[in-house]
Amino acid sequence: MIDFQKITRETDLYNLHTHTQYCDGHAPMEEFVTEAIAMGFTHLGFTPHSPVSVESPCNMTREQVPEYFDEINRLRSVYGDRINLYTSMEIDYLSVGDGPADEYFCQLPLDYRIGSVHFIPAIDNPSEMVDIDGKFPAFKARMTKHFDCDIVYVVKTFFSQMMAMVEGGGFDIVGHMDKIGFNASQYLNGIDEEPWYDKLVIDLFENIMDHHLVIEINTKAWLQRNRFYPNLKYFGMLKRFNAPVVVNSDAHYPTLLNSGRMEALKLLNVL
Ligand SMILES: [Zn+2]
Ligand SMILES: [Zn+2]
Repeated sequence: MIDFQKITRETDLYNLHTHTQYCDGHAPMEEFVTEAIAMGFTHLGFTPHSPVSVESPCNMTREQVPEYFDEINRLRSVYGDRINLYTSMEIDYLSVGDGPADEYFCQLPLDYRIGSVHFIPAIDNPSEMVDIDGKFPAFKARMTKHFDCDIVYVVKTFFSQMMAMVEGGGFDIVGHMDKIGFNASQYLNGIDEEPWYDKLVIDLFENIMDHHLVIEINTKAWLQRNRFYPNLKYFGMLKRFNAPVVVNSDAHYPTLLNSGRMEALKLLNVL
């Protein structure tokens, strides 16, 4: 496993959450590597969306995994003297027995693992997993189709899935821990300011700390939506409890590798 504290102590120019042609990223891995080197990055981790048991056009397939490993080995042989490249995955948690702790993921030779929740069960059919991570218009349509317009159910279920993922283990970094906050607050303005919502985030934070996991500050939406995951209002808590954090851009385009990262680092330091 890589030493996150060493990387974050040594440099601000790292990104450990990157999507490429192996999932829903918009450029080949090599373009991310050359762009990262041009930007002065010294550490770059690739995190394709993991193979999943549900239909998902955004996730890589198990058949693609060997090719992914071959490509990173090739890139290491070409660029390894200029940048540290890491093999990882953003592994979806779906349910107990279907997530990062699964034997399949544990046996893969990954340098580290991100655990994330992008799917939650439909309100009237626990076996039907629904994507809650997409753009707001798609989210809104799914609220009607799969969740009986019950936004409280969606928020509470997102956080209970996150809690179960943390309990289950099998990963190192908690991906975008309160990601539901954006879509939920678009659907019902102010829901993420409610005390019960806050408590869900704080309980999750405490559980993450108890399990000695690294928390990601995800900066992908900062420029467009003015929002970090976790939300800026929780940065003080991260500092107060000395939580181990990494600041990731969750880049899907090479030019966005550093998007929002410097802003997050600055805000983290002044608090
Ligand atoms: Zn994600
Ligand atoms: Zn991602």
